[in-house]
Amino acid sequence: MSVLIDVKDLHKSFKNNAVLKGIDTQIQKGEVVVIIGPSGSGKSTFLRCLNLLETPTKGNIFFENQNITDPKNDLYQMRERMGMVFQNFNLFPNMKVLDNITLAPRKVKNMSSAEAEVIAQELLKKVGLADKAAAYPQSLSGGQKQRIAIARALAMQPEVMLFDEPTSALDPEMVGEVLQVMQDLAKEGMTMVIVTHEMGFAKEVGNRVLFMDEGIIREEGTPAAIFDNPKNERTVSFLSKVL
Ligand code: ADP
Ligand code: MG
Repeated sequence: MSVLIDVKDLHKSFKNNAVLKGIDTQIQKGEVVVIIGPSGSGKSTFLRCLNLLETPTKGNIFFENQNITDPKNDLYQMRERMGMVFQNFNLFPNMKVLDNITLAPRKVKNMSSAEAEVIAQELLKKVGLADKAAAYPQSLSGGQKQRIAIARALAMQPEVMLFDEPTSALDPEMVGEVLQVMQDLAKEGMTMVIVTHEMGFAKEVGNRVLFMDEGIIREEGTPAAIFDNPKNERTVSFLSKVL
């Protein structure tokens, strides 16, 4: 395995609210890292720092040995290499599914429409929605919207996929179809960082679990170590509430 993302002493404050207080971790290529922890512990802020939607206050993030927190870097070029999937899908409501998926490859990668559409159709097939190319987001269920959002992120051929509670806004019967797509991606070797409350998924699919609490990684380990034998009392207390 080789390191894809190396996070060193990452801090993020909003005014005088210190949200991340020194995060150190390495994400290996092909690894599936699951982040759990209480609401407000900084999980979303951490993911948003990884793809520079937030500017860290202190510390460094290296992506394939390149310091992406260096202001000399092209922010957009770095961000292209990371796909992000949000709780609320963030699809463009005025665009058909196909256009949602082809927009960034055409505009950012200067791909021809024909080429972008071939890729989009393949991705639609992969997420089980080949028949929805001409549909508008409003006609889709939450589970379908989230699978489209995943396809859209994949269309940029990212090196890592970041998921921020991708199933939290879904009706329970739709959670499984989204987790299945994510599990398939993991099997194909995609590097993934996933914030989730789906502990069953974390156990089954995660290679490593990070327990975040009050802006630090309080405990980390294999799913078995964290779920079956947590060492930190905060981890024990959190798990007793969610399991
Ligand atoms: P989590 O995802 O673990 O629930 P967040 O990273 O969303 O936690 O939030 C952690 C803390 O950071 C919260 O106190 C939140 O109010 C604060 N925070 C997050 N984003 C911003 C922002 N853009 N401006 C100010 N405060 C923020
Ligand atoms: Mg969050």
